[in-house]
Amino acid sequence: MIVDTHVHISNPGNKRKSLFEVKDELLDSMKRQGIRYSIVIPDNFPNPQCADMDTVFEILKDEKQLFALGTINIFKDKEAHIARLDNLLKTKKIHGIKLFPGHEPFYPTDKRCEPVYELCIEYGLPVVIHTGILSKNNAECAKYNDPKHIMKVVQKHPRLTIVIAHFFWPKMDYCYELTKDIESIYYDTSGMADPEVLEASGGFDKVRRILEKTVLRKLNNVVFGTDWPICSVKKHRELIKSLRVPQELENKVFSLNAIKLYRLGIP
Ligand SMILES: [Zn+2]
Repeated sequence: MIVDTHVHISNPGNKRKSLFEVKDELLDSMKRQGIRYSIVIPDNFPNPQCADMDTVFEILKDEKQLFALGTINIFKDKEAHIARLDNLLKTKKIHGIKLFPGHEPFYPTDKRCEPVYELCIEYGLPVVIHTGILSKNNAECAKYNDPKHIMKVVQKHPRLTIVIAHFFWPKMDYCYELTKDIESIYYDTSGMADPEVLEASGGFDKVRRILEKTVLRKLNNVVFGTDWPICSVKKHRELIKSLRVPQELENKVFSLNAIKLYRLGIP
């Protein structure tokens, strides 16, 4: 079984297509690629290119194969939004909360993130943190999501579970070295098989080796994610398949770790 923990309902390239049609494409793609479940990550503001939280709920309805995370814009959202996230976590409508440092100018150590961390601790669900550069021409933003800031959050909140998305590309070695012994830090593989990410991060073999080391050292802490529709599901599946690890660890990466981490409640 494969669970993709990182997809978006989005329209890359701004095609004239409704976000509802994108959901149908997602289900089609899942069928073709053998993905049983996906976790949809909303954008944290309303926009026509990528579904925000309200739009995601409207689109997902009771779709059994799709789960959702919550998000927040720490510059705009006030207590009412925190109360809403609390309720969504309680009723299992969301399975964690995503923060976007780097997309927005704030550090994970920002005081305004605290209520999110407290909620995630209370419900035993992860906070997913976007990391890395946006593109080779937009590297500046990575200063906000450097794992060294995440390490400070770990020190302050030892019971908080954190998922690092995109392995702080292109500095994956650095991310690995800094976080390899922290049990509460997880990694999703989203974007890691993208050609631009591979090239910037030292090539396929290097990325494969880092991921292999991580999976062998932290058996429970790597979850499959793709960043569909921006990235290819097939390439990400092939990256995991290329790891020289025992079959049982591959199964953990493909589904078992995610089912536990996000409390998906699927057998
Ligand atoms: Zn993403």
